[in-house]
Amino acid sequence: MAVYGIDIGGTKIETAIFDNNLNLLKSWRVNTPTKDYLLFLETIKQQIKYADDFSAEKCNIGIGMPGLINNQGKVLSANVPCATNKHIVKDLLSILERPISLNNDTRCFALSEATLGAGEGFSRVFGAIIGTGAAGGMCIDGKLETTSQGIAGEYGHLPLSAQLQSKYSLPVLICGCGLTGCVESYVSGPGITRLYSHFTAQPQSAKYWSEQLKNGDAKAKQVLDCYVDILGQTFAALVKLQEPDVIVLGGGLSLVEAIVVQLPRAISAHLFGGFLVPKVVSAKFGDSSGVRGAAILGMQNCAK
Ligand SMILES: [Zn+2]
Repeated sequence: MAVYGIDIGGTKIETAIFDNNLNLLKSWRVNTPTKDYLLFLETIKQQIKYADDFSAEKCNIGIGMPGLINNQGKVLSANVPCATNKHIVKDLLSILERPISLNNDTRCFALSEATLGAGEGFSRVFGAIIGTGAAGGMCIDGKLETTSQGIAGEYGHLPLSAQLQSKYSLPVLICGCGLTGCVESYVSGPGITRLYSHFTAQPQSAKYWSEQLKNGDAKAKQVLDCYVDILGQTFAALVKLQEPDVIVLGGGLSLVEAIVVQLPRAISAHLFGGFLVPKVVSAKFGDSSGVRGAAILGMQNCAK
C-alpha cells in the first residue's frame, strides 16, 4: 500500500505519495491557510481526496508541521497560528476516517535521515536543522523518540553559555520563544546575520557570509569560528544527554561545508578529553526530508 506524507509549512503545504519502498510517486504544493482553521482542515482534506483519487485507495497519512505537538495531537505553532491549541489529529481523524500520525517537521527530518538516509547504519541518530530556526529530533533504531509534550529536540532553545558569551562579548538576546539567550539567536540563518553584524558592524545575510567565506575573507572566518564554537558546545550538551552516534545536519546552513567539517573538533573541545565525538554529516534527502519523514511516520503507524 502507498502512503501519504504531508509537510505543512508557514506558506506551503506539500503532499507526496510514496510506494511502500519509499519511492516518490507524485508530489504537489498548495498555499497554507494560516488564519482560518476550518479552511486549513478543508485544504488538507482536499489534498487527501486528490491523493486517494490518484492511488485508487485510502492510504495512511503522516504529517509534519512546525511547532510543538504533544502526544494528544494538540499543536502549538507560531507559523500556522490558526492551528495553535487545536487537536489536529482528532479533527482530521473525524473527517478522513483513517490512521494519522503527526509530528514536528524537524523531528520528521530526523526520521527521514535515520531511514535509509545519512544516518543509515547508526543506532542513535540526531537530525538537526540549522536554517531559519534550529531544532531537531532523536531517532533510536529507526524510531523517532516521542515525548508527552513534544518539546524534546528543541536544541536551539538551550542557553548560550556564560563562557562563550564572555569569550566573544556577545549581546544576550531575547528569543522569539520568550526566553533569553537561546542559542538559536546565534546559530540559525538570522543568527549568522547577528554574528556578522557583531564582528563587522555590517548586517549581512548568511548567503553573503558563505560567499565571503569561500573567498577566504578574514571577517567571515571570524564569524565561522564563533559560530562553530557555539554550535559545537550546544551539540556537546546534546552528547552529554543523548549520546547520538551521528548528527545529521539539514537546513540552509548545512550546505556550508566549513560548518560540517569544523563541527567535530568544536564538539570535542567541549567534551571530556579522550571521548569520541559523534559523526557529523549532511542530510541525504535535503528539502524532501520533510514529506519523506512524514510518510515514514504514517507507514510506521500503519504497521502497528
Ligand atoms: Zn528560544
